[in-house]
Amino acid sequence: MIPEQIARHRHQVLARIQAATERAGRPAGSVALIAVSKKQPPAAIRAAHAAGQRAFGESYLQEALDKQALLADLDDIEWHFIGRLQSNKTRQIAAHFDWVHGLADATHARRLSEQRPASRRPLNVCLQLNLSGESSKGGVAPEDVSALLAQCAELPGLRVRGLMTLPAPSEDEAEQRRPFRELREWRDRLATPECPLDVLSMGMSDDLEAAILEGATQVRIGTAVFGARPTN
Ligand SMILES: *Cc1c(COP(=O)(O)O)cnc(C)c1O
Repeated sequence: MIPEQIARHRHQVLARIQAATERAGRPAGSVALIAVSKKQPPAAIRAAHAAGQRAFGESYLQEALDKQALLADLDDIEWHFIGRLQSNKTRQIAAHFDWVHGLADATHARRLSEQRPASRRPLNVCLQLNLSGESSKGGVAPEDVSALLAQCAELPGLRVRGLMTLPAPSEDEAEQRRPFRELREWRDRLATPECPLDVLSMGMSDDLEAAILEGATQVRIGTAVFGARPTN
């Protein structure tokens, strides 16, 4: 896509976010856009950045590191790792990202904390919940999340910010809202004054309205900003 198209699409997504935020009766500005740039070239990230975008989501570590090196001059980007975690990748993720969505495993949590460079603030993390009817195998089972949360709270290199979920796609808004509502209810149960879990990372291009109606504070949007990803 040409830069003007990316800027226009981003603008349209921000308008959708604003409309849904109003419909939900929530304060303006309470939902942040993470532009998911996986499989998109560096030029697409530059175009979104020029239009004002600062938070970008990437799923594939090597691809992300290559692009970060080419975009090093854009030093105010906030990088979110939204892909599947693997133990052999935690060191690079801890060094090169600001946020990790999709943490679901105590070993990964320990490694990310130990490997977070001392020069950087603790890594922001969201714990991924595997809710009923979820197609993806990722995420911690709800009955195990409280133990994982307690373990993460002890790790100095991590700052647990909230919860994330990645439900199976659905066309129907009521159906879309169900897992998002469940995630919010889990947050309400698990939150404490020390760890308020005020981030709910949920909603993608096709269900961001449903997610915002259920309380999303970060939506992860790829296609609606950048267009279809190249398939290979
Ligand atoms: C790819 C991806 C997205 C963005 O999906 P779109 O449908 O393109 O908006 C969001 N979250 C995760 C975890 C993803 O892998």
